[in-house]
Parts: sequence; structure tokens; C-alpha cells
Amino acid sequence: MHSVNGCITNTGTILNMSGLNQIKGVESSCVRVQAGVKLADLHEYLAKQDLEVSFSPEIGDATVGSLVVCTSKDSSIDGPGYLSALVTDVTYVDEDGCLVSLSLAKDPSALLAFTCSYGMMGIVVEAVLEVRRRIAITTSGYAFMTRSGEDAAAHLAQAQQQHDALFAILVPGKQHLYVEARDKASKSAARLARSAALSAVRTLGVNGFVKAFMQRTKYNCFLRGTPMGKKMAKLLAKDNPPTTHYRRAFVNRYPAVEPGSRRLDFSFVEFDLPQLQSVVAECWERHFEFKQRTGWAPSGYGVYFVPRGWTQQRALQHNVSGAKALAKPCGNFSGPPGVSFMLDPITGDCDDPRWLQFNLEYSAWAVSRGATPSLSQSKGLLPGQAGLPQQLTRSRFLTPHYAQFVE
Ligand SMILES: Cc1cc2nc3c(=O)[nH]c(=O)nc-3n(C[C@H](O)[C@H](O)[C@H](O)COP(=O)(O)OP(=O)(O)OC[C@H]3O[C@@H](n4cnc5c(N)ncnc54)[C@H](O)[C@@H]3O)c2cc1C
Repeated sequence: MHSVNGCITNTGTILNMSGLNQIKGVESSCVRVQAGVKLADLHEYLAKQDLEVSFSPEIGDATVGSLVVCTSKDSSIDGPGYLSALVTDVTYVDEDGCLVSLSLAKDPSALLAFTCSYGMMGIVVEAVLEVRRRIAITTSGYAFMTRSGEDAAAHLAQAQQQHDALFAILVPGKQHLYVEARDKASKSAARLARSAALSAVRTLGVNGFVKAFMQRTKYNCFLRGTPMGKKMAKLLAKDNPPTTHYRRAFVNRYPAVEPGSRRLDFSFVEFDLPQLQSVVAECWERHFEFKQRTGWAPSGYGVYFVPRGWTQQRALQHNVSGAKALAKPCGNFSGPPGVSFMLDPITGDCDDPRWLQFNLEYSAWAVSRGATPSLSQSKGLLPGQAGLPQQLTRSRFLTPHYAQFVE
């Protein structure tokens, strides 16, 4: 547990889940996994059966147990962009040490409440997640020169409307916006991806834009502090054809973090899509104001788009009376059906005290603009800026970080 400038950093109960790492198997349209299974291992297992979970963020090291109860986000195609929406059953250890099982079919409200608990109600040991046949997607990369926040927001809004899913990195310091558009592959490209030429297509995907974008920019550049703009401009100037691949190609494995190593860090804020124009414009202005005042600013801002709410079709599939019954009761993505966007500041040097200062200001600003922060992924959050309903906590599990937000 750390306390920096009076602000306790996001820390839950420290758990060693490495022994609970079995994938128990596919059961009809679901997979049963133990809580310590890492996302990258799950993707590999499912891919061998031509299956996938719709949630494929680049962080392959996150464990299923943490994602069941904490915030997650991914600009995913044709399915929920946060893992907790895929949970159909969960088993956890409660405050008395007893195993409790919850199921979407029997008690949707109890299960959905549990997925908003940040691990404060109990320790997940096993979960059942919805899977589907793999969808081949085509990824295209674009780089824009953006002279203002309004300019960047206009490009984002247009691209968001034109594509099935969108991930972007906004770099005000370089006046760049990098957009990675994700679309369901055409029938012929999808056929190719399923055929014997699969490896060729996938290799292109893995070695092409996606891997380069995620690893060179976020990992190498941010980690080592290299200016991202120059490398990305070079990368995008040549040889960057659209590539067709499965979502698994997005998933990275990161080396263990050594004490004192400069590492990637980010914060999280969730806004409603109609605010895109004004929020991006204000964020752009605030970026330069902070830089002028302190001599430092984040490397960029990750932009994700996540649809909220269940479709009627998925509700029927799960035999639950209606999509409304499946709404999250609180926290991220609990708003009415619509689209959320995240505008997450990123740094390659999280030990710089100006990063914390920036986040204290950024979170306060975001909340004042109606954003929903995350108790597990937002940095610099203060009591009063987010809430955790008391009924989702048990004193045995409640840590000082989460206790600040109980209401
Ligand atoms: C480089 C990098 C990139 C990232 N990119 C993304 C991204 O694109 N999208 C995204 O959503 N996230 C991203 N993340 C964040 C990541 O998903 C979260 O940090 C995630 O919680 C990490 O998983 P973990 O298993 O290491 O959890 P931990 O950090 O160990 O735990 C997180 C919380 O979950 C609780 N918890 C863990 N296991 C259990 C359990 N079994 N039962 C109950 N509570 C439990 C812990 O007590 C803690 O409060 C990224 C992180 C990094 C470092």
C-alpha cells in the first residue's frame, strides 16, 4: 500500500492466484476457467478450438479473476468491450470462507452486483465466460496531423461512425492522432483467414500494424521514453496495408516489472459519446496548460469506444427476461444503452511526481465533466469523486484504498 500526497494508490487485496490457473473446458457456448488464468493463455486455448471471447485488450497478463470484478475496457467488435459482461457464472470465497456460486440464469441482479464489487465481496475462484466462434477482423491504421483538440475530435467522431470499432492514441505534444480502425473482415478475407493461408494472413497481422502499433509505441517508446510521434510517423508513412487477423493478435505479454524500472502507466476516465467534441477539445487545452505550468505532460491519451448495455438478442440467448434486467447496477458502463469513450492519459515514467499531480487534476476535471472514473484503473481519485455501494463490500476484504469510496 502506498500513500502519495495523501492519495492512496489503487490497491486491493494482494492475492497470489498462480495456483488457480486451469482452464476447465468449453461447455456449450461458454468456457469455465479458474480465476488465476491469464487472458493471453485463455486466448491461446480458445483459438485452438476456433473460439474467442469478445474482450481482447492488449494486456494478456491480466487474470480472469481480477477482470470479473474490476473495470476493464477494449474497443471490441460485435460483443461486450469489458470482461465482466461475459460472465455467466461465478464462484467466490465469501467473508466466512464459504464457496458461493452465482449464475446469470438464476439470479442476474446478484451476479451483476458482484461484478461491480472490485473484489470487496469475496475472492473469485472460478468463472464461466461467454465464448463465440472467432471473427476475422481487418485492421487499418491512419495517422492524422491535428492542429487542435476540435480537429482531433472531428477525426475521431468520423472514424468512430465509419468503423465497427476504433482504438486511437492522441498525442497533443506532436499534434498527432493515430487511429487503428477495426472492422469485420470481408467474406473473402475471412475465408482466407480460416483457410490454409491462415498463418500467412495472421503473420501479416501480427508483424504488421497491430503489433508495431501496440508494442513499438506503447511498450518500447513509452517504456524507454522515446518520442512516439517520430517513430509512428515513420511506421505509418510506408508499408502499412490493412491486415486481417483474429483479435488474439492484439494480445501482448509484458515482462515482469523490476523495482525502479520505467514502466508504462495510465489512468482511466469514462465519458458519454455525445461529449466527445467538447471533452477532447478541453483535454487538449489542459494538456498544454499543464505542460507550460510544470514542464511535463503525459506522452499521449488512449482512446477506446465501448458500447453499453445488453442487446435483446443476447438477453434471449441467455434466457433472461430482458436486456434491461442485465444492466450493471453501478460503476463503469452502467449508464443507459449508448457508447462510452475513454480518454486515458498515458506515461512512460510513472515515478515522476508530476504524473500524480497531473492525475489529481485530470480526475477532478473529468468528474466535474460527468465522467465515471474507475476505482481500479483511475489514478489520483479522491473521496467523493467516485462511490462504492456499502452492500458490495465486506469488512474482511475492504482495503484502505476502496474504503475511502464506500457510500
Ligand atoms: C501495460 C498495461 C496495459 C493495460 N492495458 C489494458 C487494457 O487495454 N484494457 C484494460 O481493461 N486494462 C488494461 N490494463 C489494466 C489491467 O487490465 C488491470 O491492471 C488488471 O486488473 C490487471 O490484472 P491482474 O490480474 O494483474 O490484477 P491485479 O492488479 O493483481 O488486481 C487488480 C484488482 O483485482 C483484485 N483481484 C485480483 N484477483 C482477484 C480475485 N481472484 N478475486 C477478487 N479480486 C481479485 C485485486 O485485489 C485488485 O484490487 C493494462 C495494464 C498494463 C500494465
